[in-house]
Parts: sequence; structure tokens; C-alpha cells
Amino acid sequence: MINKRGFTTTILHSDRLKKPEHGSLHKPVHTSVTYGFDDVQDLVDIFQNKKSGFAYSRQGNPTVAALEHKVTQMENGLASVAFSTGMAAISATIMALIKKTDHVIASSYLFGNTRSVFQTFIDMGLDITFVDATSVKNVQNELRGNTRLIFVETIANPATQIADLENIGELCTQNGIIYMVDNTMTSPRLFNPVNVKASLVINSLTKYIGGHGDALGGSVTDTGLYDWQNFPNIFDGFKNQVDAKVLGITQIRKKGLRDSGGTLSPEAAHTISVGSETLALRMERISNNALALASYLQTHPGINKVFYPGLTNHPQHALASKLFLQYGGLMSIELNDRIDCFAFLNKLKLVVKSSNLGDTRTLAIPVAHTIFNELGVVKRSEMGISDGMIRLSIGIEDIEDLIEDFKIALEL
Ligand SMILES: *Cc1c(COP(=O)(O)O)cnc(C)c1O
Repeated sequence: MINKRGFTTTILHSDRLKKPEHGSLHKPVHTSVTYGFDDVQDLVDIFQNKKSGFAYSRQGNPTVAALEHKVTQMENGLASVAFSTGMAAISATIMALIKKTDHVIASSYLFGNTRSVFQTFIDMGLDITFVDATSVKNVQNELRGNTRLIFVETIANPATQIADLENIGELCTQNGIIYMVDNTMTSPRLFNPVNVKASLVINSLTKYIGGHGDALGGSVTDTGLYDWQNFPNIFDGFKNQVDAKVLGITQIRKKGLRDSGGTLSPEAAHTISVGSETLALRMERISNNALALASYLQTHPGINKVFYPGLTNHPQHALASKLFLQYGGLMSIELNDRIDCFAFLNKLKLVVKSSNLGDTRTLAIPVAHTIFNELGVVKRSEMGISDGMIRLSIGIEDIEDLIEDFKIALEL
């Protein structure tokens, strides 16, 4: 879809232009679990994908659909399905599309919970290979005849490695492989994976899109680039019912939501929708704050290393500058050995010690002790995570106050 209007204008008026009930500016919160029909044929047609509409809210709801439409517009995609969390979106999509005869390649630098669910899939018999996806060569080396899907993140959490996004997109296109890109860290404001030929785009709506740390949600967007016509894992039932273009997203909705049950609630969809109206404003402020803070911390004697794609010494700084509008709010730091990690964190007054990301408030967490604790030392070091690493999610506070908070906490 081509967006003629600007990003924020499009999202602000998305509900209204679809003419919701009573001229309301927001799509109302529809709480009905099920929908009744005067003519049973209409109910049957919805079940058989002959007509669009709502039958049972596990697989679709008008308020959730309004949010899905916004995500599709933000990603310049074809269609989206929302889920209860980002993790539900990821796991349900893999479950809906992949069979045990398939091979999957995933980046070894992954959000810890994604790595965890991929390990669960391996334990259940799926063949998944982890590679350093910052170079397409590593991915190419693992390619097999049955490689069906490649999964990467834009900016990896916590060490901010950036996947070789364009070249992996090219490789997937040439080999008919589904290219699944988790865009959570960049958000659709800073980057659209469709531009690097992604097939499916994941967003944790909990993070930047919702933006205020007050609702959980996730989504998958079909960019329209993958040719589902010859994809062997589409169920025969869908093949005869829907247009070839929407085979993939239909299977993700019908099978993914049905089997996982990871449905987004209409109340959360509304909260996320309202939050998404200011995504562009927040991403600009967050990115500006993060770059200013990274520059400050980089020269501070209390800090050994700053991981932030906006810094010129970041290994993929040139790629980030080429692909992303700005560099986002994810940053990690390693303290000087003389500074105790916990003491430093406890001295921060504004920055909240918390595990979330993408909030309006700046958040900090010691990585090895918490979100990556279960992985153990070996896997952590493979993923570039040292024991003293602190992950920051930069918020929209006034930058002077943020720098002051770090300055005081770093005093010996
Ligand atoms: C948080 C996150 C997820 C999972 O999202 P939830 O909404 O917390 O389930 C997936 N991928 C990335 C990159 C994330 O940061």
C-alpha cells in the first residue's frame, strides 16, 4: 500500500476515515465475544473465508482490526494480525507456517525470550540453526534445500548488533525463503523491513508502538512480497478459499490465533492504538535523547563501553545510518571495573530499574543477572553479553535531567 499522507497524519485519521459508529474519532472498544447473524449463510461465509466479518473474537474483533489496519499502514504492508504479546505473535507465526521437515535459520543475537521459544521448538524436534546474522555469508553457509524461514531482528537487544538486513533479504528472495524480521527495536517509524524485502514483520506492540508501558500486544504484518502460491505448508482448505496473496496471513490468523489462543483484548488494542498516535513524536525525542546521552557516556571515565548504533565507532553504524531514520532508544553500557553495577543502578533516581523497553520513561536493567540469566555464561558470551552490561531504554525526559541523573550515579 502506498501512503500518500505523512506517517502521523495517516495514523491519527485512520479510524475516522473508516467511518466508525456515531462519527466517533476512535474505533470503539467492542467487547462482544461472539457475533450473531440473521441469515446463517453469512455466518457460514465468514467461516469459509468467502466474506470478511467477525464470528468469534479469538480470531478477530473490530477494535483489534482497527489497530491491525494501523500497523499495516505503518509498515507499508498488505495485512496484519495482532496478538496478545510480541511473543505470541512470534510463536504462533512459526507454529502456523513451519513443519518439522523444514529448516529454520535464526540470528544468534536474539531477544532472550525469542531465543527461549526457539529452544523449545528445537526440543520439540524442529531444526533451527543460529548464526551471527551481521554478515550474510554466515547465513548463506547454513542454507539447505529445506531452509524455509530466516528470522532476524533489526537492532539486537542488548548488544545492539544490526543484522545484514539488505543482503539477507536478497538471499531469501533468490531462494524463495520466508524472511521474518522483528522490527520492535526500530519500530515502523524508523524502519520498514519491507524496504529490505522482508516477507513478515514482527512488532511487539508493548514497546514503542503502544509506547507508555500500559498494555501488552504483538503483531505480524505480511509485506505482500512473499509468493505464497507455491508455499508447501498452506492448508488445502485455505488454498481454494482465498486469494493467493493473502494465503499466508490467512493461515497466520486462522491457524495461529486459533491454535495459540494468543488473542489481543479489545481494551489493550484501544490503549495501544491511542499510544501509537504519538509514535513519530516519541521516536524523534527518544532518538535525540539517546544520541546525546550515548555521546556523554562514551567520554565518561566511569564507562568502559557504550553500545549504540548512533555512535560512529559502532560496527554497523554506516548500515544503521543508511537504513534507519534515526537510531532509536536501545543502548547498553559497560561500567568501569571500579564502579559497582548494583550500587550505580541504585544511585539512579530518575531512571527506573525495570525490565521493559520502549516506555516514555528511561529504564535500566543489569542484563546477565536478569533477562539473560537462565541462558548461562557460555550462551551469554556467544551473544556478546558481559556480566557487567546494563541495558538502557531511553525515554522522553528532558535530556539535561537524564544526563544529571547519570552524572551523579557515576560519581565514585
Ligand atoms: C519485547 C520483545 C519481544 C516480545 O514482546 P512481548 O510483547 O513482551 O511479548 C519480541 N521481540 C523483541 C525484539 C522485543 O524487544
